[in-house]
Amino acid sequence: MVLERKLSNYHTHSKYCDGHGELEEYIYSSLEKGIRYLGFSSHAPLPFKNNWTISKKDFFKYRELILMLKEKYKEILDIFLGLEVDYIPGIISPVSPEIKAMDLDYTIGSVHFLVQLDNEEHWTVDGPLYEFERGIEVTFNGDITEAVKQYYERLNTMVKAYPPDIIGHFDIIKKNNKNNRFFSESEHWYKKLVYESLDAVAKSHCILEVNTGGIVRNKSSSLYPSEWILKRCLKLDIPITISSDAHNPEQIDGYFRETFALLKSIGFSKYFQLKKTGWIEADLKNFC
Ligand SMILES: [Zn+2]
Ligand SMILES: [Zn+2]
Repeated sequence: MVLERKLSNYHTHSKYCDGHGELEEYIYSSLEKGIRYLGFSSHAPLPFKNNWTISKKDFFKYRELILMLKEKYKEILDIFLGLEVDYIPGIISPVSPEIKAMDLDYTIGSVHFLVQLDNEEHWTVDGPLYEFERGIEVTFNGDITEAVKQYYERLNTMVKAYPPDIIGHFDIIKKNNKNNRFFSESEHWYKKLVYESLDAVAKSHCILEVNTGGIVRNKSSSLYPSEWILKRCLKLDIPITISSDAHNPEQIDGYFRETFALLKSIGFSKYFQLKKTGWIEADLKNFC
C-alpha cells in the first residue's frame, strides 16, 4: 500500500488526442492514487488526416492549460508537458524542428506506422487485427518476419538518429500476436532483432518505458516489453521508467503494483522518475 504519493506516470492520453477525460481529471486521479510526478503525452500532430493525434491548433490550448495547471498544483504535484511523437521517416521524429520548437519537458518516441498502404491510409502496427493482417498481406506479401524486421529497424533508426527521452512500448509489434498467432518470441530471428535493438538502446541516452497499457486496456496479456526482454535490459543496464499509457484518468496507476513486484523479482533495484531537477533514480524497494 502506498502511504505517501511518490509514483510517476509520463504516458497519458486525454481528450486532446485519442484518450478520454480533462487534464484536470488526470490530476484528481493522480492525487487520489499516489502519483506525484505526472506527464501529459498527447499524440503529436501529424501532417495527414487522422483521428488519434492532437491537432496543431489544439496543441497551443493544451500547452497553455498544462502550464497553468503546473503552476496551480505546484505544491503538491510535479506536472510535465510532453508529447508521444511518432517516428515516420521523412515526416516526423522526436527531434523534428517543429517538435523542438514546442519546448516540451520530454518526448516519448514511438513507432506506430510502418508503411503507407495507399495515398490515404497509413498502416499502424497496433491497430485492430484485421488491419494488421491486411498490412502484412499487402505490404510484406504475408511475411510477418519482414514486417517485424522493418519495425525494429525503424526503432533502431529512431534511437540512433532521432532519440526521444523515452522509448514508447518497445515491442508493441507483438500486440496482435496473442497466443503466438503470427510468431513465437522464442524464435531465433525474433530474439536476434530484439537483442540488436536493445544494443542500440543501451548505447543511447534514452530511457525505456515499462508500459502496462496493454494489460490495463486489455489489449495484451503481457507488459511492453515482455519479461525476457526486461531481463536483457537489466543485463545491459538500460534505464527504465514505468508508465500505464493511460487513456482515461482511472488508468493512471494501472498494474503498477504488479509491475513493481515483477521488476523486483527480475532483479531490478531502481527505476527512473522525471522530477523538476531532471531524471532521478528511485529505489524500487520503496515501491510495492
Ligand atoms: Zn503509442
Ligand atoms: Zn500512448
